[in-house]
Amino acid sequence: MPVFQNPTARFNPKNQKPLSNEVALADSSSAGGIQAKSRATDTIQRKCQNCAEEEAQEQSDNDELIQAKPASEWQMQAKPTPAISQTMSPMIQREEFEPWPGQIGHDVANTREQDGGIIRERVQRTGDPVYSSPQPSLLEFDPGNCRLTATMDINFVRDTSGSDAITEEQFNTFKAEVIDIGNERLNGWINLSMTDSDACNLPCAGQDISVNIVAQEGSGPYSSEVLVSSTVGRENARHIGIDTDEGTIWHELGHIVLGAADEYPDIRHDNTPRPAERVNTDDYSIMSQDISARRALMHPRHFSHLAAWMERRFPNCGVELSRATQPLLIEYTPIITLGGFGTFDGRGGIYYTAGVDLGIPLDELHRFQLIMGPRINWSLETEDSIMSLLLGWRMGVSYLAGPSGVSGSIFAEGGGLGWPDLSDSSPGVAPYVEGGFTAGYTFAPNIEVAAEAAMGTRDMPDMDLDNLDMQPYFRMGLQAAFAF
Ligand SMILES: [Zn+2]
Repeated sequence: MPVFQNPTARFNPKNQKPLSNEVALADSSSAGGIQAKSRATDTIQRKCQNCAEEEAQEQSDNDELIQAKPASEWQMQAKPTPAISQTMSPMIQREEFEPWPGQIGHDVANTREQDGGIIRERVQRTGDPVYSSPQPSLLEFDPGNCRLTATMDINFVRDTSGSDAITEEQFNTFKAEVIDIGNERLNGWINLSMTDSDACNLPCAGQDISVNIVAQEGSGPYSSEVLVSSTVGRENARHIGIDTDEGTIWHELGHIVLGAADEYPDIRHDNTPRPAERVNTDDYSIMSQDISARRALMHPRHFSHLAAWMERRFPNCGVELSRATQPLLIEYTPIITLGGFGTFDGRGGIYYTAGVDLGIPLDELHRFQLIMGPRINWSLETEDSIMSLLLGWRMGVSYLAGPSGVSGSIFAEGGGLGWPDLSDSSPGVAPYVEGGFTAGYTFAPNIEVAAEAAMGTRDMPDMDLDNLDMQPYFRMGLQAAFAF
């Protein structure tokens, strides 16, 4: 049975419905369903046989870590007081996010091996209890090279049944694609380091630990089985179609390889909602939903089991987990605006603007961006029907609350090269300069609708450049933007 949420719901939560029907569908239509089902059942049983013990262990690990670490390092924050959460609207104050307790992971009994200085062990993460657990990762620490490797064997199963069947060639191509996405997209998000202390006698004390997340094909008792079909109506971590987009594959690999849990609002298999404190849609997490693969991020919480395991194995050595600096991601945002303008002496008209903003993030979550870009302004003076087409350049700062939410900008714009009067085909100059703001709402993954207002001064469209006739004006419009 499917053990994680399926991405159709992930990308279109409005269509979300209780998953029991979908579960039945997926089971009856999947060629590898029997194998997958027995694995899932094993997992559930194994988990439940040890429920009390595991939960106690997770809880004690959790307590330890919360005491041992500043909250920011583990992305754990205190819950708001009931008074606050009850009196403020969820739009303003949602529940603070907390990873599921089992996300720090615990050691799987009898899997520890020592090979010279190298230590290996299976670490099991548990997440949303409505879904069965992912398979435990193999963690390997090489103290000689200060290197930590987390490996997951993925046991791909080719769907050979009916219309969902794929060819051997399709199967091999897709497997290679998934492995590539895993090894590229799951790495590079965190820094791990050992603090320098007298009690820690490892050569890595005070040094960075390189982290390598490995997705590889493999089998065996701890491998993660994935059925590969031609197309899957609602993918999940145990069943993927070869037409699945990269963002969804990355999301599923977050489950499969890292054991990270879903972070978006959901009605789960048991018809209960995911608890609000386990939902985080604000920080572009790939484990959330409606995030474009270009903007999506992974966060230290998705790797908390690595640091927790290191601290269990080396209790005398402090381990610090932090966000790795990401390469600069420049956003390209085509924009169209239409509106009306007026001058204080009664002239006026309508305008259309097309442009593109380049956005340079000023913080890691892209909340603030330096924006700049060209504008083409077409305007029609109603009084004397003069049409003009003028080029400008805009610079400003934009704000975006999150993948969806309020957004806006303040800007300055100027220019005026072009055709001050389109009825006269000769180009010319009619300078303008203005300042303004936009205020609107951005819908995930990347569409913004906003109101725009500006005031400025411009040369009247009289074609007399020797005698600039600057007039103050104001304008208001509606803009739509689509960010890449
Ligand atoms: Zn998921």
